[in-house]
Amino acid sequence: MKKVHNFTAGPCILPQQAIDSAIEALKDFKGTGVPVISISHRTKEWEAVMNECRALWKELLNIPEDYEVVFLGGGASMGFLYVAMNFLENKAGYLETGVWAKKALKEAKGLGNAYAVASSAETVYNYIPKGYEIPADLDYFHVTTNNTIYGTELHEDLDCPVPLIADMSSDIMSRPVDVSKYAMIYGGAQKNVGPAGVAFFIIKKDLLGKVSRYIPTMLDLRTHINGESMFNTPPVFAIYVMNETLKWLKEQGGVEAIYEINKKKAELLYAEIDRNPLFKGTAAVEDRSIMNVCFVMAEGYEALQDEFMAYAKAQGMTGIKGHRSVGGFRASIYNACPMESVQALVDCMKEFEQQHK
Ligand SMILES: *Cc1c(COP(=O)(O)O)cnc(C)c1O
Repeated sequence: MKKVHNFTAGPCILPQQAIDSAIEALKDFKGTGVPVISISHRTKEWEAVMNECRALWKELLNIPEDYEVVFLGGGASMGFLYVAMNFLENKAGYLETGVWAKKALKEAKGLGNAYAVASSAETVYNYIPKGYEIPADLDYFHVTTNNTIYGTELHEDLDCPVPLIADMSSDIMSRPVDVSKYAMIYGGAQKNVGPAGVAFFIIKKDLLGKVSRYIPTMLDLRTHINGESMFNTPPVFAIYVMNETLKWLKEQGGVEAIYEINKKKAELLYAEIDRNPLFKGTAAVEDRSIMNVCFVMAEGYEALQDEFMAYAKAQGMTGIKGHRSVGGFRASIYNACPMESVQALVDCMKEFEQQHK
């Protein structure tokens, strides 16, 4: 197989160990003689996977006792609706830091009174708003901790006077998080913890059941808490691979250990972007994401964009094209992306500079 350095934004690189294990499980799931995609989710073998996966989430993120972990289909985008359905009664505030934040807000607006408390839309979301006040009368305040498209990241768990809800699709498990500061954390698995097809919800249980609207059964988070994520058929294969990914993460030393590596990878790449006269970063320096690194050709070198893309591709880089809404380049350096790949991209940028100086 061709050797590549995979920087795709999602679905994205996963630990090879998890992929190998998935291949084995497709042949024979835990010695049952049945492929993992053909086994009933009501068997004890499958339940063991569910239990292990839930336990790993709790262990790796130090999730307090009064929180539930739920796995569902529908992705983070369905999560936007779960948030509004289950938590919006009178008024909700959103931190509008990108397209995903805006889409989350749209779902809440469709159900009631919701608005952007602060926004960085006027500069194409290249920074995280600061210095705004969170009104104390909100049902909840919603943030997107990592803005996958723009490469900005909220580097702290906010002190919030109202329940704090976070879409952590693209930085979950990349850094330690104080879960106790959140009413709910959710996201799609396909950026850092597994393949597409499953979304995670970490829910402070006692905050549910406070809205007066009728919530359809499948949209009521209590249904899935009570059903232990198996009210209906769960996405078994995606959950299987997520569990293997978390086992790998634990072997790496867990979230604290991977955070140190993630910071080093990001520093290496940002240092080259800042040093190399051909390139420049697009996100405000203090808000730079350690997961998605966005950059463009510097002034005077814009015409070299396609050439750099082709050169990088020839060197084995894949998935570095920026999101269609912002252009330029984006290297997603999630947990499973090795330092070696980041170094290869940096080398590529250096070589390109030598050719064009
Ligand atoms: C990718 C992404 C989403 C959308 O996820 P889906 O699972 O495709 O719905 C939402 N929020 C953020 C921050 C993302 O990176």
